[in-house]
Amino acid sequence: MLTYDDIIKEDNEDIYKDCEPVKLPLSKEDIKTLEDMHEYLIKGYEPDAWKKYRIKPGVGLAAPQIDVLKRMFCVLAYDERGDLWDFGVVNPKIISHSTQLIYLPMGEGCLSVDRETEGFVHRARKVKVSFHLYDFETKTLRKVVMRLKDYVAIIFQHELDHLSGTLFVSRINKDNPFFVPENSKPLKLEYKKDF
Ligand code: ZN
Repeated sequence: MLTYDDIIKEDNEDIYKDCEPVKLPLSKEDIKTLEDMHEYLIKGYEPDAWKKYRIKPGVGLAAPQIDVLKRMFCVLAYDERGDLWDFGVVNPKIISHSTQLIYLPMGEGCLSVDRETEGFVHRARKVKVSFHLYDFETKTLRKVVMRLKDYVAIIFQHELDHLSGTLFVSRINKDNPFFVPENSKPLKLEYKKDF
């Protein structure tokens, strides 16, 4: 079982590398990677996850964060309406995105950035994406096109960044971390979780 110690942090050069596309159909090894990441996120929702498993909770986890440099990640999150998003993502692409931006007023957090950070990350409020969706219930993979917005769109873009070796901290305006462009709006959430 993965623990927080298995997640590579910003001092590891691999976290900045570009990831390889995943070969299809999925190999047993790639399925195991997806299942391991999924298990980590599920266990993170249990009370006392840190004490019980040494797991720091998250709402998303990308393969490069466990040092597998392949284009896949998992999302396990409740959005701002309380709906659950739970799937594996393989070889994602952004087809189009809104010019309207959105940001988390508490700032983003990342399992690979183990320190306090300050500043906003502005991302597209809506994205149209295509990817192969791995369904953890049926253990099947299918090609999908999805329109995502708000919190799930933020998570998707944060994880997609990991696949090209980009951490959220590099997207914060260095001279003015709390700068808000005219076309960006805050997304209010009750909680802050890393991804
Ligand atoms: Zn992250």
